Amino acid sequence: MLQKQKAHGPQSILEALSNLDNARNRGLFMPFPGPTLQVPLSERPGLRPHGLQGLILEVTERCCLRCSYCLHSGDYLDERVHSGKQMSFEVASRAIEFFLDGAREDCYIDFYGGEPLLRKRFLEDCMRLASRLRPGCAFAISTNGYLLGPRFDSLLRTYRPKLCVSLDGPRTVHDRFRVLPSGEGSFARIIANLERLAKLDGEYFRSRVRLNVLVAASGEIEKTIRFFRRSRLLRDIPVAVLNVGLAGMNEETRLRWSARMSAAHLTAARDRYLLGLSRGDLSGLGFEHSLFGGGLKVLLNRDRSPIGDAYCNARLCVVGALRLHVGATGTFRPCAKTARLPVIGHADSGYDLDAIRRIREEWLSTCDPCKRCWALRLCRVCYKDIYSGDGGSRVDPDEKFEACERHRSGMSSALTLYMEALEGDSTVFSRLEDRFRF
Ligand code: SF4
Ligand code: SF4
Ligand code: SF4
Repeated sequence: MLQKQKAHGPQSILEALSNLDNARNRGLFMPFPGPTLQVPLSERPGLRPHGLQGLILEVTERCCLRCSYCLHSGDYLDERVHSGKQMSFEVASRAIEFFLDGAREDCYIDFYGGEPLLRKRFLEDCMRLASRLRPGCAFAISTNGYLLGPRFDSLLRTYRPKLCVSLDGPRTVHDRFRVLPSGEGSFARIIANLERLAKLDGEYFRSRVRLNVLVAASGEIEKTIRFFRRSRLLRDIPVAVLNVGLAGMNEETRLRWSARMSAAHLTAARDRYLLGLSRGDLSGLGFEHSLFGGGLKVLLNRDRSPIGDAYCNARLCVVGALRLHVGATGTFRPCAKTARLPVIGHADSGYDLDAIRRIREEWLSTCDPCKRCWALRLCRVCYKDIYSGDGGSRVDPDEKFEACERHRSGMSSALTLYMEALEGDSTVFSRLEDRFRF
């Protein structure tokens, strides 16, 4: 074999083999035929071992907008559509009491929809109840910002909820997809609401407002970045960049949305980000950091311990232990990601431990390919990615396969960026450490 290798001398091949041996001895390779996969367990499965941290209440299924890419638009096979269903205060109080009964010190309640600002009185009642039961419980509202008028001033002043407002960029970008049922754009009113809020209470605006920016057409990314960078109102507000969710979308719509996204449009933003990394200075690159930094964070914070005979992905949640999503009718799910996740209980009856156990077993039943997967230690695929059909109760290996492909492709781009940054300067990530810690 050594003689066949013309390009490398025997000495360098022996050196390479010895390096491989060293790496194997240090446990850097996966054992063959791969580790047994495990799921994180609480001491008392499903029963909040360290206390729940977040309660997500789906306050209403109504919304004042009709965004084209909405999860509830009817384009997603297993998701609910917009409806008039609302959470009753009885259901909310039972859920809040259940949650606060064993919640951690740093707990929060997130009001979700539909559009939660459609229910001002309900929000106040819930916040009053939770603050009485647990002074110090924090609040968040995930809103489209359209109804954020003066009638919410006293609620914001009293309870200081974190506001996560969806805004996709300048008017031409935002109004293309985020529209009223009439088709009219929502940008002008949302911006006017944010301007008024910033004038009314600048400290609250700077410290409690966050923006969710959904990039639905990558060809407009430069316009979007310029908008946020130049806006005196928004340039210092933290931004989370999201993509249109393709999982669970019907085929025709999925093709349409995929066609709007091309990595080629992101090249200029990626180059700027790489330059910022090489200079050790990411100031003014908040949007780019949100766009590309997530994958780097996963890489830099990866589990570096050797993979033994058994492996448990620390990123998987303990179902029902940290976060709990309560639907408008009181059903419990592990989180708000998708209604395809099975129900794990109800506000009336608490957790269904058999359902929680079933999710773990069903997840493990899909994990054989993980034993041979290079992304095992970087994996972000989870319970939400294995279900489809019939109200989310059917395990669908195809769904998981596609989620794995998307995840690996994202991690592979992140790896390329990581290596390019290190080639420029091997100390780059230690100099920017605070930007890459979770
Ligand atoms: S604001 Fe949110 S819930 Fe309402 S239509 Fe848009 S994406 Fe859907
Ligand atoms: S996204 Fe996945 S891991 Fe995270 S809370 Fe939801 S189900 Fe758990
Ligand atoms: S990407 Fe898929 S196959 Fe790979 S470790 Fe994650 S879940 Fe397993």
